[in-house]
Amino acid sequence: MARAFYHEHPETLALETEVVDARPGRVLLARSPFYPGGGGQLADRGRLCWSGGAVAVVGLEAGEGGYWHVLEDPAAELAGDLRAEVDPAFRRMMRALHTGTHILNAFVFQRFAGALVTGAQLNADGTARLDFDVPEADNERLRALEGPINEAIRQNFAVRDDYVALAEAYEVPGLIRSKSVTPPPTADGKIRIVEIVGLDRQACGGTHLAATGDSEPVRILKVDNKGRHNRRVRIGLVGVAV
Ligand SMILES: [Zn+2]
Repeated sequence: MARAFYHEHPETLALETEVVDARPGRVLLARSPFYPGGGGQLADRGRLCWSGGAVAVVGLEAGEGGYWHVLEDPAAELAGDLRAEVDPAFRRMMRALHTGTHILNAFVFQRFAGALVTGAQLNADGTARLDFDVPEADNERLRALEGPINEAIRQNFAVRDDYVALAEAYEVPGLIRSKSVTPPPTADGKIRIVEIVGLDRQACGGTHLAATGDSEPVRILKVDNKGRHNRRVRIGLVGVAV
């Protein structure tokens, strides 16, 4: 079954490919290593290179035929063979930040009566926010999760993925952790599950580290009340954002 290249080959950030459709400033490729964004995670950045030139990729947009690579130069018109390269530092940072949000999310789910996520946003500056539906939560208890989060990083839990039927996924409490967003199912009706072995399993379509120990330490920067039910927890990667 066809699965996304960034899921099947998370360590391959560059590949030779070809243009299958083009408009000024945007291009559709036969294959691409770029993560298109989604689930709160930003699209990869990077560039497309050919003999004698290169142009930066500043975004990806769903369109006819798949995800179109949006080019920094709005007038660029590309054709033929080229090399697609994801910015490795940006991808690695997003993987670490995304893994950090899963660890936070795991502890909130476990310690706050199965609380679900109501929103998520990862930022290019090494910070992220997660919103949780925890009407009775004491913000100090949320802040105190910083210790367990960093302990989970130190324990270097493996992170892996598998696929389960969508109908099955809905039968396991907490596997679909978001109240509003479910990752898109595969063509054969399965959903991707990301497991931090020994800590957490949840549906997710993003990119993550191969083990929690590959992450920088994580700080909880702020806990805000967002309405009667919601708490917004901001985290940052030490050495990147704080
Ligand atoms: Zn994820």
